[in-house]
Amino acid sequence: MSLAGTRRAVSVAVGQSGVRFRVSPERKNRPIGLVSLAGVAGVLLLSCMAAPPATVRAFEGGRVRAASQLEAARVEDLVSRLRPELLRLLPDSSFPDIEVWVQERPGLYRFGTEGTADAEGLWSPSHRRIMLSRHADHLERTLAHELTHAALGESWRMLPGSLEEGLADHVSASLCEDGAARLRAGRLSSACLATGGLALDIDILPRPTRYDPTAPTRRRWSARIRLKGDTHAADPLDVFRLAAGLSSTRLETGAKRGFYGLAYLVVSRIAENGGYAELHALCAEAAGRGDGEVAVEDVLAAAGLDADPVRWSRAAARAMGRDELIELVRMYPDFLVQALDGYLRESAAGRDHRHALEDLEVRVRLAQGFVEVGLDDLPFVREAILAAEPTTEEPTLASAR
Ligand SMILES: [Zn+2]
Repeated sequence: MSLAGTRRAVSVAVGQSGVRFRVSPERKNRPIGLVSLAGVAGVLLLSCMAAPPATVRAFEGGRVRAASQLEAARVEDLVSRLRPELLRLLPDSSFPDIEVWVQERPGLYRFGTEGTADAEGLWSPSHRRIMLSRHADHLERTLAHELTHAALGESWRMLPGSLEEGLADHVSASLCEDGAARLRAGRLSSACLATGGLALDIDILPRPTRYDPTAPTRRRWSARIRLKGDTHAADPLDVFRLAAGLSSTRLETGAKRGFYGLAYLVVSRIAENGGYAELHALCAEAAGRGDGEVAVEDVLAAAGLDADPVRWSRAAARAMGRDELIELVRMYPDFLVQALDGYLRESAAGRDHRHALEDLEVRVRLAQGFVEVGLDDLPFVREAILAAEPTTEEPTLASAR
């Protein structure tokens, strides 16, 4: 998963660490010793900056720096494809000169900082630089996310809290269809986990094979599984108060994922009604009124949400389609593998699991959602069950005689 920084993220970290410390106006009249000390600290910090990757390739509006020509060319191709699409999708967007660095671990500094430890990509507005991990789960989508931060004009700064993260995720999913279901499943399930949990229903039913009046009645096995987050449920309105993408915002990964999920849910509900233009109109209207940012009530009204966490949780579950449910089971396969494995050990003792599974109808659905999937949609679950099947002992030579 890409938990990327925001356009304001790294600049905050830079301010805190002191690179800009030397000439801040309030300090001009300080004693000379302090100024010199600040200067030395600045030089030391500059020597900790990450070295630029060796290979450079130019593209329209910027440069890619990477470890090899091959890597740089690959990223340059991606930027060339994504750039015009982003400009077409987003109102008030542009790409004044930017750099994209491909790194082992994305960061401005040679040594990682706590606030960016879980990031696959970062955007530093003060350096006009995107930093990408070459090991990103999905390099193109991570790049699209960071390019969104880089492209957004001033008017978008009116988005409160973490919403810019939701926008960058939503744009990246619409530009990179490959892997988008996985991103949506991750974000929407995180939104559910942040607002109380995610309930899944499993039904297991033997398939009727042929008419046999002596056959025992078919027995249905049903269970409700509740997935819970590892942090306490948050007030969903905190997503408007807290900027989870900033490197200066200290949050453990589970809580951060929750805010990314809630932000994604809000943006997707607004964008699916009136596109990004509707979200941007909220920013323009707030700016026109002279407000500092878009009012929470206006975002809630546009998204059809309120302060009740139950509504958020239900909205997130209902936003998941079939592909997202499959990805959700792929993310947490154990609940289904264990349920089926237990069922087979009890009900199909003596039969091999491969054949026993063929005689079962298995349905999985979200308790609050609209879709369900079967075992044929989940080949990885079937494989896991067969891999866990106890092997029958081979007859020894002695017993074979
Ligand atoms: Zn981001």
